[in-house]
Amino acid sequence: MASNKGEVQEPINESLDYGNWKFLSRKSHILNSKCTSNSQCESVPVTTSETDKRRLYCDHCCFAKLLELPELPEMCFPQSFLIIEHCSGVRICFAAFDALQLVDAHNDKLKVQMAEKWKEERSNTQGVGDVVHPFDWTYTTEYTGTIVPNPPHSIKIELTEEQINLEKLKQQEKILFYNDIILFEDELADNGVSILRVKIRVMTSCFFILLRQFLRVDGVLIRVNEARYYHEKDSKYILREISCREGATKDIHPTLHTQQDEVARILPVKLLKMEKLMLP
Ligand SMILES: [Zn+2]
Repeated sequence: MASNKGEVQEPINESLDYGNWKFLSRKSHILNSKCTSNSQCESVPVTTSETDKRRLYCDHCCFAKLLELPELPEMCFPQSFLIIEHCSGVRICFAAFDALQLVDAHNDKLKVQMAEKWKEERSNTQGVGDVVHPFDWTYTTEYTGTIVPNPPHSIKIELTEEQINLEKLKQQEKILFYNDIILFEDELADNGVSILRVKIRVMTSCFFILLRQFLRVDGVLIRVNEARYYHEKDSKYILREISCREGATKDIHPTLHTQQDEVARILPVKLLKMEKLMLP
């Protein structure tokens, strides 16, 4: 699966109007390796605000200059996204740039966590921990989506005990809209995988979004960070479940190492939080 995903030629746009909502998705090409503007990016004054730079720069320059990462994931999809837009104009977006902004660009946390043994085993190879500039080369992100208000409308977030209705999600309902969009992916110099993708499923009575980062560092750990969104049609809120799960690879059966759905279910939970996103 990993080899040909970057080869989407023309952007594929899809959308659905759904009661108070509109869903928009786009799958587009991989990030260009060079600036694509004819010196336009170069002429943007250094003093320009970050927001304006983001608007003026080409995608390559946005990722290369505005993210502080010494290296980007092998595959970034700058123009691939999912947007859900409420009738109030408030939007929730899922996009690679925003997710990568939350990656630690200055510290290699996993190197500290790694067992000494693992470091010794790999000491003769140009391993993933041997980067010159320390940064989080696993691209771990606690990104949960980007809420974009439309003043005066916004989304209020409250903690809740309410759970996502899994039974309802299991029901055989007509699927009106489905998409699975990769935002970025890196194979960690052949030492595993870090992939962020967002999936949406819209049914007659509800919709469900799963944003998941799956990280496997071979011989070290598997980590799954997720944000799940669940909304029953015509209700006043969206439920959002945020979770981080992580386990040592040695504790997980090897056949499960590549089974992202299965492994996500059995990994020890490090963080679990339920929120209500109150709609305007
Ligand atoms: Zn540029």
